[in-house]
Amino acid sequence: MKLLEIPAAPPLRRSGRHARTWRDYEWASMIPLVAVHVIGVFGAIAGVVMGAPTSAWVCALVFYGVRMFGLTAGYHRYFSHRTFKTGRVFQLVLAFLAMGTAQRGVLWWAAHHRDHHKFADTERDVHSPVQWGFWHSHLGWVYDRNDDFDWGRVKDFTRYPELVVLEKLWLAPPIIFAVASFLTLGWWGLIIGFFFSTTLVWHGTFTINSLAHVWGTRRYATGDDSRNNWFLALLTLGEGWHNNHHHHMASCRQGFFWWEVDVTYYILRALALVGLVWGIREPSRRVLDSGSAPQPGAALLPSAQQPA
Ligand SMILES: [Zn+2]
Ligand SMILES: [Zn+2]
Repeated sequence: MKLLEIPAAPPLRRSGRHARTWRDYEWASMIPLVAVHVIGVFGAIAGVVMGAPTSAWVCALVFYGVRMFGLTAGYHRYFSHRTFKTGRVFQLVLAFLAMGTAQRGVLWWAAHHRDHHKFADTERDVHSPVQWGFWHSHLGWVYDRNDDFDWGRVKDFTRYPELVVLEKLWLAPPIIFAVASFLTLGWWGLIIGFFFSTTLVWHGTFTINSLAHVWGTRRYATGDDSRNNWFLALLTLGEGWHNNHHHHMASCRQGFFWWEVDVTYYILRALALVGLVWGIREPSRRVLDSGSAPQPGAALLPSAQQPA
């Protein structure tokens, strides 16, 4: 084992199928995506020019934070990886908050994400930037006929009828967020509080699929191209420690060291104090001890084998 060496990314494993053409996408399905962007971005510019009330911007900040937390704590660390435990009611709350981001249903998301780890950066990884390029991995893959998913990949959660119902009504949570912002803060609440923050939360999330496999440092030789990136970690409440995560996906904590800010983990720890969650899984002692190099990306370590 060599120290002070950043593990090289593995060689590309392109099969020749990686080029996407316009025929691969369901363009009509992108109309809502474009509409949200137009309303959100131009609405925010209009809000600056016309002096939208502060409450609308605060609403955007709150909606971004709450829904990003739902996504990273719920969709990712709970439903995809089961890195902590909670009760049936808070499980549903996490699913609802995450689905408020309008990123399809909780079971669709978890099933695709489990496959991402199983096939990371191979041609069977539907959003690998190594295989398909930036834009496809960022958001194009969602419109690449990926509506269907293998329900067998999430059978640990399909036994909850409320999750199955919510899955089929996946547009209901974002509509509820939109209506709530309109009823409480009017048009500026809807445009900035909901549409603008939805645009931001989308791209914050998408960067983990695209940039976090391209941009940043590698502490562990994981066999894929995952990276650690402090900027992405701040944007996504801790998801930017993606190389750590691919190395030890059974850990709820993704910022392995004190300097690796992981807001989602801190919030879950606080929720554990009041008994809402429990059984939070930490990186193993072996991972922490052997990976405690002072500079991120400084130690070459074998990747831990973890179940998806
Ligand atoms: Zn993951
Ligand atoms: Zn990844």
